[in-house]
Amino acid sequence: MSDTTHHRICPLCEACCGLEIKVRDRRVISIRGHKDDVLSRGYICPKAIALKDLHEDPDRLRSPRIRRNGVHVEATWEEAFAEIERRLPPLLAGHGRNAVALAVGNPAAHKIGLLTYFPKLARALGTRNVFSASTLDQMPKQLASGLMFGHWLSVALPDISRTDLLLVIGANPLASNGSMWTVPDFRGKAKALQARGGRLIVIDPRRTETAAIADAHHFIRPGGDVFMLAAMVHTLFAEGLVSLGRVASWVNGVRDVEAAVSPFTPESVASRCGVPAPTIRALARQLATTPRAAVYARIGTCTQEYGTLASWLVDVLNTLTGHLDVEGGMLFAKSAAFAANTAGKPGVGKGVGTGRHHARVSGAPEVFGELPITCLAEEIETPGQGQVRALITVGTNPVLSSPNGPRLSSALETLDLMISLDIYLNETTRHADVILPAPSPLEDLHYDVAFPQLSWRNHARYSAPVLPPPQDQPPEWQTLLKLAAIVQGKGAQCDANALDDAQFEDDTQRMFGPEADAVMAATRGLRGPQRLLDAALRAGPNGAGFGSEKDGLSLRKVMEASAEGGIDLGELQPRIPEMLRTPSGKVELAPPLLLQDLQRAAADVGRAPPSLVIIGRRDVRTNNSWMHNLPTLAKGPMRCTVLVHPEDAARHGVSDGALATLRNGAGQLRAQVRLSLDMMPGVVSLPHGWGHDLPGTQLSVAAQRPGANINTLLDDQSRDPLSGNAVLSGVAVSMEPA
Ligand code: SF4
Repeated sequence: MSDTTHHRICPLCEACCGLEIKVRDRRVISIRGHKDDVLSRGYICPKAIALKDLHEDPDRLRSPRIRRNGVHVEATWEEAFAEIERRLPPLLAGHGRNAVALAVGNPAAHKIGLLTYFPKLARALGTRNVFSASTLDQMPKQLASGLMFGHWLSVALPDISRTDLLLVIGANPLASNGSMWTVPDFRGKAKALQARGGRLIVIDPRRTETAAIADAHHFIRPGGDVFMLAAMVHTLFAEGLVSLGRVASWVNGVRDVEAAVSPFTPESVASRCGVPAPTIRALARQLATTPRAAVYARIGTCTQEYGTLASWLVDVLNTLTGHLDVEGGMLFAKSAAFAANTAGKPGVGKGVGTGRHHARVSGAPEVFGELPITCLAEEIETPGQGQVRALITVGTNPVLSSPNGPRLSSALETLDLMISLDIYLNETTRHADVILPAPSPLEDLHYDVAFPQLSWRNHARYSAPVLPPPQDQPPEWQTLLKLAAIVQGKGAQCDANALDDAQFEDDTQRMFGPEADAVMAATRGLRGPQRLLDAALRAGPNGAGFGSEKDGLSLRKVMEASAEGGIDLGELQPRIPEMLRTPSGKVELAPPLLLQDLQRAAADVGRAPPSLVIIGRRDVRTNNSWMHNLPTLAKGPMRCTVLVHPEDAARHGVSDGALATLRNGAGQLRAQVRLSLDMMPGVVSLPHGWGHDLPGTQLSVAAQRPGANINTLLDDQSRDPLSGNAVLSGVAVSMEPA
């Protein structure tokens, strides 16, 4: 049989690189970057090669499992759905909809079937107990952006190809290629910035891989970002450096911000954040006096108790220095499909809010339809009306990825029913009564729903399945629809296709009104995510519309372009005011919720920092816990080591290569020490997603070098109160030789 060539968006991280995959006799023989891909131009990182490992992994589940007497046994799809139908409806009837919780993980963002059909299951269930990985690392950014610009995914992005100054805070895009910012080949783009005379400045408690190529790097105390950022804003006002530029007539609240930051002088915050006052002033001046400049901040600024404030102040800085919505500054992507900021009336909307309901035990407010995932264990453990008795997980492993995994693991074991959609029997799904496997990414079609809203360049790309799925493997959207049907009492035997047809027709009538017949006609012959995608592309800002002869995007057109690397829709362009969806039609620079929370930070400026704190870190070869089971990525030096500055090592009596015990009130772990001058003294670093030494899993490669789980040191009660995001950075620990 001759070789065939396929093009696929890499599903392994937010960079979404275009891959060229060669197949012979149904086996992948090579994976490389697709040089014509309009977004990534041939760039890939080492993780992409591991897609072959993932596809061929003997540990990857290829048929359902049912737990019988504590052992997961292989089952048919009919048996698995019958088991769910036997147990789930009585539970709902007896205890109500909130007794069933949903938890979804990061892989869902890379699967159009999950992203478009998970909401249908959530709607069918109607539970308030919805949890996701967003409250582990990104909700502060989404909440701050939502309050300022009117939608949760209206995130301002650095215009990296035209900026002359990029200030990166608490992020390591050289390893990640962007997070909440899809920017494949960050290294190449950063080098181009420097080659045209621009500067890259990094602020981080670790001299990261990004800091290593930067023009300047400054240490900051973990969790100190809000203080440094507020003092930078203070400096802008104090030195008359505020200039809003082209967005001046669309910004509310400048004077309120000036008043709110008045206590945050650089001198008053310097010891709290660890950045000297002259450095804070110099950074503010440099930002204000560079015509094309951008501030980008991520994980480190989100995973702390002031995560939403820090995320907000980043865009306050961008706005006050005239860098918001201008070329070379911060711009908003214009996604070809599925974006709320291209739908409805331009320039105005409902905005976002929080607290439509609250977590039963902690009282934490709902944010973007979710409760903090760190509330899940106590919602299971605590008796009373609304107690969580069943859980459906979708591509998530919170036992390893969420603070206090051991507590959550114990809680999961007490559930009346747990159902997991997952490709692995991992540390979380080992508790499931039924596991429903997904197709391998190479067996699935794809279009990025969320990432074009966060991409450095506008584009539309489609991936057809590279390999056919096994005959009895349903696509995930059908699995989700069947679960929804069981919840709705329609039965496990229902026809998922017929359900989908009926739902699409209902939704089309509701959303398109008089145009509904044209929508139905234009999308005839399609089904599932493909049909939703065709409708979204046609209705989008570059769309062909329905029934007209307009020359625009449709699924067919984007599919045809996939071999050529997709459709390039050009550089990001200024979009204010049309992209705003705030009720005022303005950028809300001073949302009351944030001004109020800033007083909490002001009262905390004088707190003495702990003598030793821990932070996480990103490695180019690992992103999620399951990547530790892929031989290509798992080989080489052990990556789950604790980085320690030599001064701290001497102070605590630990040495390079030896084991150290780290402990605090939450728990303890042992990890191998690696001395590193890259660490800020007083800060140690351990990557997340490790700890594969729990029984009952089927991760044979990961189990050989399990690593230590940083989350045993993290307190599940410690959150940013506004977004509900877990505090993962800057947690106090003690350290001693093991
Ligand atoms: S950076 Fe690597 S893992 Fe991420 S999308 Fe690109 S090739 Fe895939």
